Amino acid sequence: MRYAALSDVGRVRKNNEDSWHADGRVFVVADGMGGHQAGEVASSVAVERFLGYDLENRHLPPMKRLNEGILAANELLASMATENPGLEGMGTTFTALVLEEGAFLGHVGDSRAYLLRDGRLTSLTRDHSLVAKMVREGFLTPRQARVHPRRNVILRALGMERRLVVDLASPDLRAGDRVLLCTDGLTSGLDDEELEAILAGVEDPEECCRRLVMEANARGGEDNITVVVIDLEEGDVPRGRAAGKGGAKAGEAKGRWWKRR
Ligand code: CA
Repeated sequence: MRYAALSDVGRVRKNNEDSWHADGRVFVVADGMGGHQAGEVASSVAVERFLGYDLENRHLPPMKRLNEGILAANELLASMATENPGLEGMGTTFTALVLEEGAFLGHVGDSRAYLLRDGRLTSLTRDHSLVAKMVREGFLTPRQARVHPRRNVILRALGMERRLVVDLASPDLRAGDRVLLCTDGLTSGLDDEELEAILAGVEDPEECCRRLVMEANARGGEDNITVVVIDLEEGDVPRGRAAGKGGAKAGEAKGRWWKRR
């Protein structure tokens, strides 16, 4: 396996509220939100709590551990926000890929996971955002969604409510596949065709990360940009009983909307 990650503050914001992790088995991107420093706290605390849960509960099957790890991070953010008035309103997106007797993907918010296979890009996640919902329902085109004034409204995030629903999937990944995890600082600037061209065209994962960040910055860099690129080789995703296509997709969670600053 070859993989690389890069996070960049962008060209407008002072702080980078994104967090990420990549260790060859667990890969995460998280995009924090909330006033002052709360967004940074939210994304970094969520990633740390998730990794701790993963370590402490290795006896659990991977999908259960993935789901419960994300719920544990959610629980921690919710209680921190209750106890610290300065952190009230903080939240984070969370997209995690675990490779272990299969590939396991957990997702909340509008960060994304993509698969590049044989030069073609497909999405492995659905955004939990207002505009994505409107696209699915036929009220907006994807192009309109990217410039819509309410494109920052997201419908599901960690820290938002204690009854969180995590989208879970076990994508059928194999040798030769390239996976991208990214925050919306990348996808608000580049559309899927542009992403596909870069991912298919730049072979080295580290160079590919640099190129993706550079292109997002060239389009204004209005948001923090975080990318993780993973190139799978033979043996990276051992076949297990849980591996297979598809996976559970939950419906839109009811409740408050969440707006980035
Ligand atoms: Ca963002």
